[in-house]
Amino acid sequence: MLLLKKIINIILYFFIFLRILKKENNSLRILMFHDINDLEKFEKILIHLKKEWKFISPDLFFKIYRNNQKIKKKLILLTFDDGFKSNIKVAEKILSKHNIKAIFFIPFHFINLKKVSDRRKFIRNNLKIKNLTKNLYNMNLIDLKRLIKLKHKIGAHTYSHKDLKFTKNIKILNYEIIASANKFESILSKKINLFAFNFGRLKNISPTMMKIANRRFDFLFTGVRGKNSLNSKILFRDNINQNDNIFDITVYLNGTFDFIYKKERTKLKSFLRRL
Ligand SMILES: [Zn+2]
Repeated sequence: MLLLKKIINIILYFFIFLRILKKENNSLRILMFHDINDLEKFEKILIHLKKEWKFISPDLFFKIYRNNQKIKKKLILLTFDDGFKSNIKVAEKILSKHNIKAIFFIPFHFINLKKVSDRRKFIRNNLKIKNLTKNLYNMNLIDLKRLIKLKHKIGAHTYSHKDLKFTKNIKILNYEIIASANKFESILSKKINLFAFNFGRLKNISPTMMKIANRRFDFLFTGVRGKNSLNSKILFRDNINQNDNIFDITVYLNGTFDFIYKKERTKLKSFLRRL
């Protein structure tokens, strides 16, 4: 299956390269990473993307939205979800070198876990990762303060990272979505106005979650692929996993697979209109 996907993406890559498939010239795309186990490969991807895409900082991203600026270039914003330890290494060793600023979405409870057994339990049960490696663990509060010092942004990503789609209890939803962001604000002394839905697909997001998040945050990040438009505070992101190479990423960023996610994007946007 993975091999088939790789072959399809290489073919599509060359179709885009040869302009047999339409090539995007101006779009705002957001990349979503999690743990980065190969820093060298990650840097190579950035260097390759830099040839065609302009990396924008979260501040520039906000400015574009605030001023409703027309998107005339190919713009990328980088985001990292879940707060893995590798993220601080990426920020210090690679993002600083390339002067790229990113957003890190962190589940509040995860950064407070100190015992190895608690961390592993959280990664397995709440982040739903099955293959646990020794190097897979969490950032701590000091790491987050360091990220802020390096001019990156911290975003909320619920308290426990549990799937909340079918949670009806408003108290729990408020705690998970709003209180966790407020806690971050007080311990980091920073405004937290960004939120990423955990798991991030339509099957993980309910209209009630959208309603609560919409009340509290300026921007709502999903895990649904798509190009971003300036008239919506719901943002779409391209999930990049550890196996993805430059062929895969180019195909995602070109929007070649966006049509598959059209229904999800429309439905999520309809949640906001219904409020
Ligand atoms: Zn997550």
